[in-house]
Amino acid sequence: MTTHEKILKNLGIAAADIARGDLEVRSPIDGKKIGSVRQHKVADVAKAVTKAQAAFREWRAVPAPVRGEFVRLFGEELRAAKDDLGKLVTLECGKILSEGLGEVQEMIDICDYAVGLSRQLYGLTIASERPGHHMREIWHPLGPVAVISAFNFPVAVWCWNAALALVCGDPVIWKPSEKTPITALACQNLFERAVKKFKKAGHKIPDSLSQVLIGGRDIGVALAGHKEIPLVSATGSTAMGRDVGARVGARLGRSLLELGGNNAMIVSPSADLEMAVRAILFGAVGTCGQRCTSLRRLIVHEGIYGALVKALVKAYGQIRVGDPLDGKTLVGPLIDKAAFDAMQKTLKQAQKEGGKILVGGGRVTKNVPGGFYVAPAIVEMKKQSAVVMHETFAPILYVFKYTDMERAIAMHNDVPQGLSSCIFTENVREAERFLSATGSDCGIANVNIGTSGAEIGGAFGGEKDTGGGRESGSDSWKAYMRRQTQTVNYSDALPLAQGVKFEL
Ligand code: NAD
Repeated sequence: MTTHEKILKNLGIAAADIARGDLEVRSPIDGKKIGSVRQHKVADVAKAVTKAQAAFREWRAVPAPVRGEFVRLFGEELRAAKDDLGKLVTLECGKILSEGLGEVQEMIDICDYAVGLSRQLYGLTIASERPGHHMREIWHPLGPVAVISAFNFPVAVWCWNAALALVCGDPVIWKPSEKTPITALACQNLFERAVKKFKKAGHKIPDSLSQVLIGGRDIGVALAGHKEIPLVSATGSTAMGRDVGARVGARLGRSLLELGGNNAMIVSPSADLEMAVRAILFGAVGTCGQRCTSLRRLIVHEGIYGALVKALVKAYGQIRVGDPLDGKTLVGPLIDKAAFDAMQKTLKQAQKEGGKILVGGGRVTKNVPGGFYVAPAIVEMKKQSAVVMHETFAPILYVFKYTDMERAIAMHNDVPQGLSSCIFTENVREAERFLSATGSDCGIANVNIGTSGAEIGGAFGGEKDTGGGRESGSDSWKAYMRRQTQTVNYSDALPLAQGVKFEL
């Protein structure tokens, strides 16, 4: 048995399960086939929704802390499978093993968070203007949640949604990226293991609380259009989000959109440059530039521009590109040929628009196991021209000079997307200005921390073309519930609000 087969077996996937499907899955590491999985048909969407609605009718009546106990057990399964699932993430989407394991850790963290949350789904009491009346606001389960996810976080994004949805009383239907379906099948197996343990402990749990639908855009479109799915949480490109948002909006459903970013860092003259270089490296080249929060624009004060760019070019020369399963590798492959072609096209366009490639950009073919490996690029730009406005999902970092902070902040905000942002400065005025209402317009704003690598405790998401959704921590759970304002009259009179009289 090969190492790959062992990993799959440990995750409950037999070779025969992924031998005869119509969707071929290849590892970006070496381009070799991992398996072929069976795709669902569009007609399967309605069947899944009927099952999810049946599960909802039971699950919504289970006390939230008991639902939390189930999520605790699921978190235990994730802990036990962390090594195997982390490796499978690396195998299927190509991120380095440390990040693959980190992604599973993020799943464990959100489960822990959701367990606590299951005892904290609190509402409000509100003063009533009418005597002998109580008014309060409470949160009820919403219904089946569809999760459409992207290839670059093949498991964590689903878990962010699923852990919260489950404690909130909602079943989940997951359509993973067609590029990473096997990790989804593995997660579903771990989910079923937790179901068995939950039942063994004497609890009731409905069938089909979590379902996976394998397929491409057509399955996503059908989920977005189904009127019995009150919430569609979709993560991916802005183009996908526009389509999903319009379909869900047309039926007055709710969507939670987590879309593309175009994240920037401002580096001021007072910055700790050594720290900034480390943060820039992780942000711009980590995950081979394939994170929604990847650093794409660097806005540097003219006084330190030369020194910082020189240090970066030197650091880029030392990056180890190669097999993501090798512990020494920092940058693994791009997901596929299309991603490589898009990177090359963007670099050519950037040059046409006056950009100068300072380092990287080409394909790396030495000491790599196949696949599409690239040398991360730094491109010096004179201004934020058309090419800079687009998110290219590859390790390209545009660098710009600025002379005054007002102009730097204006440049920072002058892109269609609004996900993550940061400033490196030791100057409290600059830091607070960046964080103020007239500073960064993004959903995430950091000081002396890079743009990527968020913690699950905070709400995650961005503004403008990033879609406006919030997931994960803080009060993001409210998106998965319906709000009800309740008024109880415990008096023997029937006064109307606003003093209205209505008597025979
Ligand atoms: P993608 O948009 O190509 O696909 C994402 C998912 O949407 C896939 O499951 C795909 O099948 C589905 N899909 C595509 N078109 C659809 C449609 N019209 N209706 C319904 N479903 C549809 O994205 P990708 O290449 O897998 O991922 C990269 C993108 O995702 C980048 O733009 C990245 O910034 C973004 N992303 C955002 C976040 C975030 O939290 N903001 C996180 C991860 C990735």
